[in-house]
Amino acid sequence: MQKCEFENIIKIIKDQYKTEEFIPLHEPRFNGNEKKYVLDCIDSTFVSSVGKYVDQFEKMVADYTGAKYAIATVNGTAAIHISLLLSGVSDNTEVITQPLTFVATSNAVSYCNAFPTFVDINKETLGLCPEKLEYFLKHSTKKTTKGLINIHTKRIISACLPMHTFGHPTKIDQIISLCDKFDIPVIEDAAESLGSTYKNQHTGTFGLFGTFSFNGNKTITSGGGGMIVTNDKELAKKAKHITTTAKTPHKWDYVHDEIGYNYRLPNLNAALGCAQMETLDGFIKSKRMLAQTYKNKLISNSFLFFDEPESCKSNYWLNTLTFKNKSNRDTFLNMSNNLNVMTRPCWCLMNTLSMYKKAYCDDLSNSTIASDTLVNIPSSVII
Ligand SMILES: *Cc1c(COP(=O)(O)O)cnc(C)c1O
Repeated sequence: MQKCEFENIIKIIKDQYKTEEFIPLHEPRFNGNEKKYVLDCIDSTFVSSVGKYVDQFEKMVADYTGAKYAIATVNGTAAIHISLLLSGVSDNTEVITQPLTFVATSNAVSYCNAFPTFVDINKETLGLCPEKLEYFLKHSTKKTTKGLINIHTKRIISACLPMHTFGHPTKIDQIISLCDKFDIPVIEDAAESLGSTYKNQHTGTFGLFGTFSFNGNKTITSGGGGMIVTNDKELAKKAKHITTTAKTPHKWDYVHDEIGYNYRLPNLNAALGCAQMETLDGFIKSKRMLAQTYKNKLISNSFLFFDEPESCKSNYWLNTLTFKNKSNRDTFLNMSNNLNVMTRPCWCLMNTLSMYKKAYCDDLSNSTIASDTLVNIPSSVII
């Protein structure tokens, strides 16, 4: 019975891509000016850390998201790292984040010698839950002259880092207003949500900083790459400075005025990124159509299609099915992957990984359920 039903579901997924060959979860599409810009870049000899495509890519992302400033970085993880540092995240402090995320979110916290503190997600968005966040802030923290302290660990809480899971915007306005009340900056890990809006405002532009990734599996790719966005002019300037080795501008002297990072995005990658930005609207349209088709056609008693949350327009980076239980989920994972259709559960919860086992955790029941029952299904742009 169920076997038949799942086979039918897998066939519907295959029909979308019109192939019997392996269907990956998310692969890039290059059907615009990619080759032209990359060749232009090579012809110009500016293939490395400076060049017109870097500036252009930054401008395109700023314009697209409505952020005042955008700073290109070598990848999304570096973008989070620098955003945290410039938000004041320092040694031995804590950053509130969600356990259901890609490891980069927590790792970037560790690069600041800080500790992730895990607060649960909610079921409607799969992102950080404002109610659970409020509960944590009210019951587990205390305002002191040094700052907001986690009463269990005695460490200062220096920031909050929500993530827009699979491209679905989290309830970011509620999170920001709570964090404002408790005086902690918000950095949005918007790596997965380029093209997604919450109440008609682009994700990543609500917090002090927002960060994007252009890794090969994301909605658009620059091969590898990231972007920091912010509306703060001073912080934008600092972000550009510190990600480009902190060199003071001079025609020939090499003076660096602090320990900076070589987090520069090569012009070659930016060229690819520019071409992809030009096709982004078409990608989003196609991805939203695919999501609609999945929603209409993938009907089962064993799972629900995960719909974009209220007041949101999602890029549907990765389409998601929520199974009634783990055993159904595992059956589906097995069958689909055996039938050449790549599907995958969500990440292991961060608090279960060896390096984050000792992190402070509040109740994580929704995250635990999600990690047992979610499946991502093929979501590449259909050509
Ligand atoms: C992809 C991703 C990143 C950044 O990844 P990079 O590979 O460093 O560009 C960060 N956070 C999340 C949630 C991601 O999915």
